[in-house]
Amino acid sequence: MTNDEHPMTEIHFCYRHPTVETNLRCKKCGRYICSKCARRTPTGYICPDCLREQEDRFYTGTNTDYIIAAVIALPLSLVTGGVFTFLIGGFGWFAWLIAFFLSPIVAGFIAEVVRRAVNRRRSRYLAHTVAGSLVLGVAPFLILMLLAGNFFGLIVPGILLFLGTGTIMARLR
Ligand SMILES: [Zn+2]
Ligand SMILES: [Zn+2]
Repeated sequence: MTNDEHPMTEIHFCYRHPTVETNLRCKKCGRYICSKCARRTPTGYICPDCLREQEDRFYTGTNTDYIIAAVIALPLSLVTGGVFTFLIGGFGWFAWLIAFFLSPIVAGFIAEVVRRAVNRRRSRYLAHTVAGSLVLGVAPFLILMLLAGNFFGLIVPGILLFLGTGTIMARLR
């Protein structure tokens, strides 16, 4: 190996950025990577390709899981959106408190139902699919309130959307 014979004169470049000098190497494939490309793991630096490969092994879900997730999460989100907008939204200012309290619980429940339905398989975009379903389920009620000029009525479904998507993204990571 010439690398070992002349360690001082050897200049290495990131394999993804041929003009960027670097001394970092991927611990898996050994290629040189710049600090921008390198991803830190508990055992050392790793290149994006190897990281992707590692993640693919981690994600055990199939494409069908996305359909299952949407089919379950969409109607649940629609019902939740309706209940929040018309039932809870009718409680006046107190509705905001209820919405703050209930949104993470309901969203967590939807996430859990989906997780069980896909047999706890992990997928890269499962959380995005469920969070997107919540957005689609609540959007009609937001539009309805907007069209009715009821801006006050936007707050409760808005809280549901904001806290709900956050909960889902955290739960299904
Ligand atoms: Zn690598
Ligand atoms: Zn690079």
